[in-house]
Amino acid sequence: MRTKILVTTCLGAIVLTVGVFFVTHAVLARAFDRVQTENLRRNDEIARLALELSRVQPGTSPQLQDGLAEYRATEAARHTMILVVAVLLGGFALLTSALVAILSWSWRASESSQRQRLLQQRRMSRLARRDVLTGLPNRFHLQRVLPRLLARAERDQGRLALLCIDLDHFKNVNDSLGHGTGDRLLDFIAQRLRNSVASHDVVVRMGGDEFVVVATGLPSIAVIDSIARRIRKELSVPVELDGMSLSVVPSIGISVYPDDGTTQEQLLKHAGIALHQAKERGRSTHLFFTAEMNARLSERLSMEAALRRAIDAGELFVEYQPSFDLRTLRPVSFEALVRWRTAEGALIPPSRFIPIAEQSGAIVEIGEWVLKRVCEQLAAWQRLQVPLLPVSVNLSVRQFEQPGLADTVAGIAGGAGIEPRLLYFEITETGAMQTSEQNLGALHALRNLGCRILVDDFGTGYSSLSYLKHLPIDALKIDRAFVRDMAADANDAAIVSAIVGIGRSLGLHLVAEGIETLEQLECLRTLGCTAGQGFFFSPPVAADTCAGLLERLHAERLDETPQSGHLGATPPGFRALASP
Ligand code: C2E
Ligand code: MG
Ligand code: MG
Repeated sequence: MRTKILVTTCLGAIVLTVGVFFVTHAVLARAFDRVQTENLRRNDEIARLALELSRVQPGTSPQLQDGLAEYRATEAARHTMILVVAVLLGGFALLTSALVAILSWSWRASESSQRQRLLQQRRMSRLARRDVLTGLPNRFHLQRVLPRLLARAERDQGRLALLCIDLDHFKNVNDSLGHGTGDRLLDFIAQRLRNSVASHDVVVRMGGDEFVVVATGLPSIAVIDSIARRIRKELSVPVELDGMSLSVVPSIGISVYPDDGTTQEQLLKHAGIALHQAKERGRSTHLFFTAEMNARLSERLSMEAALRRAIDAGELFVEYQPSFDLRTLRPVSFEALVRWRTAEGALIPPSRFIPIAEQSGAIVEIGEWVLKRVCEQLAAWQRLQVPLLPVSVNLSVRQFEQPGLADTVAGIAGGAGIEPRLLYFEITETGAMQTSEQNLGALHALRNLGCRILVDDFGTGYSSLSYLKHLPIDALKIDRAFVRDMAADANDAAIVSAIVGIGRSLGLHLVAEGIETLEQLECLRTLGCTAGQGFFFSPPVAADTCAGLLERLHAERLDETPQSGHLGATPPGFRALASP
């Protein structure tokens, strides 16, 4: 293209030069021609006069002839001058047109490269605003269009809804089927989502398994509600992939313009909060943002910050609750339970701060601190030379997802001079179900150290029991929800009986939680449960009180006083533990 322009411009320049040359030549020649014709006429006149003069007065002719020749020479010089001027002008025209050609060529070249750069930039910015996997617009696109949509909603005095969508437990798909399948499933879901809303609504993939839908021109909240329902219904239909039927369930958080905010930051933040709440409320649901959610979040955030300071400020401490052998009524182990007393003296229960610590990740630090405290305590009891009982430490899923957990445990126990076999670890049933290959390895490594693994709150996960076969576990702790009503509710008794049956057939120990009455204790013994803990025996107590129990146990052993095993008898150490 550029060569074509160059050739055309050069040809143009040549034509122009030749043209200028001829035109100049013609114009000058014509102008001089007139003069020349006049001169020639005079010349002839002079020649004729010279002839006559030479006839009348011989000898003058040569002078005239000389003048004539001189005159002719001047004429020739004039011709040469015309030629030179024409050539010069032609040359000048050539130079000018060459210059013009070069300038225009370079201008065109820069213009076209600028155009190409512009195109490239546009392509890049289009790509930067698209999600590579699904082809949907991404968060950068949302940032660009949302202000425009909000401005239009304001102008039209209409409602705009921002729906934050997250696929529940999508991580499990990636973990169990691989990222390739996960990606294809995401792509599929993305197209479904696109098709489940109106074509003028904006559907964006924010990243991972998170999407945002911006629905505009909405008359009422009821319409937004129906959109959310439709999305949930459409996305929940199982997807056939590689011969498998895969289902994903979405949770949705919704914020509405102008009710929940007028800027994109507010709306995104509030939809995110609503999504968070939806997930906390058992997922697979959609929730509209409320001001109360905001207040809860603020409280949560301030608690999170306070919790992070709590360890350094020495506000955390550990209490120990003993477990008893239900047959001999002797203590068999302790469970370490963390407590938080704030600087203001308020005692915050673990049920409030542990979930926050789990979400913020602070649980990893707290868990490690508890483990250190427990090991130090065991070492202190060891120095008192009382018989040591193992201590159970609650382990959050976040903790056993950490690489090198067993090494950390071995390091902390070794540092305190404690044998790892004195440590038990409790993982919740829900946590146990989430075990991946890596987590499974961590549990095996802990067991290889000599630690035992207990499944806490067993029966509350409402899940398949198949994971029990694969996990390296030693005991099941029957959740106190079943123990509480088992004496009165035949169903609960049946569940406890079934759990005992499962545990026995798998060769696992059974520990009942939350034994509060003698009746419950008797019932559990009848059903074949081997150990238990609860307020009937002792609430969680300070380490010093436990030392008293251990000393008493030691004395009893030395005494060899046979324990009656009678259920009416006060369990060993119970009085000492129960009365502060
Ligand atoms: P959990 O592991 O199931 O601990 C047993 C809970 O039941 C304790 O509550 C204990 O005080 C309570 N309990 C014991 N006997 C009875 C009884 O007879 N009746 C009733 N109603 N309750 C009884 P706590 O101390 O409030 O702990 C609650 C949960 O917090 C624990 O449940 C555990 O999941 C978590 N937790 C406590 N400490 C830690 C820790 O250090 N790390 C982690 N990850 N979680 C912890
Ligand atoms: Mg526990
Ligand atoms: Mg429990």
